[in-house]
Amino acid sequence: MNEFDLIRRYFTRPVPPGYLGAGDDCALLPVAPGKQLATSTDLLVEGRHFLADADPASLGHKALAVNISDLAAMGAEPLGCMLGLSLPRVDEAWLAAFADAFHALADEAGCPLVGGDTTRSPDGIVISVTVFGQVEPDRALRRSAALPGDDIWVSGTLGAPHAALQWLTGQWPAQPALLAEARPALERPVPPWRFAQRLPGLAHAALDISDGLLQDLGHILKASGCGAILYYHQLPIDAVLLPLDESLVREAVLSGGDVYQLCFTAPPHNRDAIAELAHAFDVRATRIGVIESGAQLKVHDAAGRLVPITSRGFDHFA
Ligand code: ADP
Ligand code: MG
Repeated sequence: MNEFDLIRRYFTRPVPPGYLGAGDDCALLPVAPGKQLATSTDLLVEGRHFLADADPASLGHKALAVNISDLAAMGAEPLGCMLGLSLPRVDEAWLAAFADAFHALADEAGCPLVGGDTTRSPDGIVISVTVFGQVEPDRALRRSAALPGDDIWVSGTLGAPHAALQWLTGQWPAQPALLAEARPALERPVPPWRFAQRLPGLAHAALDISDGLLQDLGHILKASGCGAILYYHQLPIDAVLLPLDESLVREAVLSGGDVYQLCFTAPPHNRDAIAELAHAFDVRATRIGVIESGAQLKVHDAAGRLVPITSRGFDHFA
């Protein structure tokens, strides 16, 4: 199978009206008049983000999901995506499973694959996905927009992907039943993109949690020139963590990465509207803290005592 057969068979699908997909020098996307284009790229590298024997369907899903998560974090509506793929060899079973899962999420999110690039890479698989979305001008949820007095919210639950990764890599003692429960959160994250598109106008700042709540919230605080208090007892700890030691739970929820849920800030007068929106889109949204003036990030327990923070989160070059 040559490069062009591969692209045609696995990565060329009919595109919606108004689009030009793979096959020309550029793809064309229908950006609505007056909207801003939002775009983002994420790389997944074998040995770094996934293991050589990773399930190809999970990879296909996750490669796109982590990018849709970036659009959600901006409050943008998905428009389409590009796929850069480097493979050591052509493995048709791998490609079929990868492509099916990729296209399934693309269809669900209204984010069709419109082009890409395909090459050989002897040292392992590299997957690069670029997404495009659209957002009303000046309504995107920027990291720099948090204000003192804002509530801090998080969507979904925290900790399950971290726990799954620790069990899979043998860093935590084996717990096969719990691993089976936690694994989908690591391998099949579902960012709340429909809910997120409705947040502009209600929320101020937002991002998606990829490297850990403390580290990622730290980015909002730095960009906004603010501090924050997090209420540890209000965090939506994933149920899979409940049987675990307190110190492991704390590590997973405060510093665990791969969450692909939103952390956002919003003024208190929008509490009810946000709760209704979350309900309408079947998203769990939890208030977990408050933005303050200053520059410190503090975590309080139910009694108002400081919770010790050991590690903040993941850093590729730490
Ligand atoms: P070019 O010579 O312009 O770089 P290519 O020969 O690399 O074009 O690709 C041919 C067409 O196939 C282009 O429209 C490109 O966007 C598309 N394409 C290549 N690889 C992929 C891929 N992995 N997924 C989707 N489309 C792809
Ligand atoms: Mg090319």
